[in-house]
Amino acid sequence: AIYLDYAASTPFDRDILSAVFESTDTYGNPSSTHKLGKEAKSMLETNRAKIAKYINASPQEIIITSGATEANNLAIKGIVNQHDRPHVITTNVEHSSVKSTYELLESQCDVTYLQVKENGRIDIEDLKHALREDTVLVSIILINNETGVIQPVYEIAEVLKDRDTLLHLDAVQSFGHVDVDVEALGADLLSLSAHKIYGPKGVGILYCKKNTKLNSLITGGLHEAGRRAGTENNMWTGAMALAMEKVVENKTERNIKEMQLKELFLNELQVNAIPFDVNGDVNHASPHILNVYFPWVDVQVLLTALDLRDVYISGGSACNSGSVKPSHVITAMYDDARASHSVRFSFSYLNTEEEIKETVKVLKSIYESLKATA
Ligand code: PMP
Repeated sequence: AIYLDYAASTPFDRDILSAVFESTDTYGNPSSTHKLGKEAKSMLETNRAKIAKYINASPQEIIITSGATEANNLAIKGIVNQHDRPHVITTNVEHSSVKSTYELLESQCDVTYLQVKENGRIDIEDLKHALREDTVLVSIILINNETGVIQPVYEIAEVLKDRDTLLHLDAVQSFGHVDVDVEALGADLLSLSAHKIYGPKGVGILYCKKNTKLNSLITGGLHEAGRRAGTENNMWTGAMALAMEKVVENKTERNIKEMQLKELFLNELQVNAIPFDVNGDVNHASPHILNVYFPWVDVQVLLTALDLRDVYISGGSACNSGSVKPSHVITAMYDDARASHSVRFSFSYLNTEEEIKETVKVLKSIYESLKATA
């Protein structure tokens, strides 16, 4: 089988799993006051400090969550709920965890959805025009999970620099691919997920800049400084810290490898004369994601044909795969028709050149057989 769906999820690194297995002896509740509890608390805080270091934050700014969906919910609702009908800004290409949250909040706040251009990026002038006196929050996806397109985040931060408006970045696809330094990015809130970086599913973080008031969504004990109740997931926090450490250590070589694989893939499509076009700005894109428009095939037909040949890709976001509607991201950039003929390939340093060539061979055979029956 060939797996080209790393943006949906990565395999859990076995070495990380083995390492966290060692920590099962530290099973105390980090809130317990006895020695085993203190040991667990110390382990938790060591890992929190590590996570903080990798994004240039301080440990108190890290809230451990069940993943990025929760982190995005907490960032948005935790701010919006403090205000009476505030104004908020986001884009029309967000991940469903941001998109649905804002759609739900439309009865409680005024939401401006910035419309991306055909290249998938927002126009910074649109942001300037959208800002109001009462704008409390701007949510932007840093690297788009469907297209890999990188938003002009430094320009966005510059626009917001001297305002009270908070900047929330969904950086789930970004860690390891671009610098995720919360200071440099000007982020007030930033979400990450472990399972996109070879860690386990079900753990993530929300970075919340110090002195930023955040309403908790889950009530209970005073865990995470009152911002997220519930006994901390100590082992998985350790796994996330290790996953981040490994990503940082290998960042350059992994990105080079992914870039080469992407280029090889595009080159092979050309050499094999398979009609295609790339969706989004190739000059501002992450090496690990490529969204391709194949005018000759419908998304579902292609996904099924590839699946039957054990090539695993996705039509867009895995979180939307239950939906029969074409991707809202590709529709936002082009139109419904193009979206229903576009698929996402996402690469990893674990992929080989042979896998890329084999995938294109399979695509070619699907193309030829569809052409023959057309
Ligand atoms: N945001 C983006 C950009 C994502 O790609 C994902 C994962 N598909 C999420 C948020 C949600 O993360 P999680 O799976 O940890 O809930």
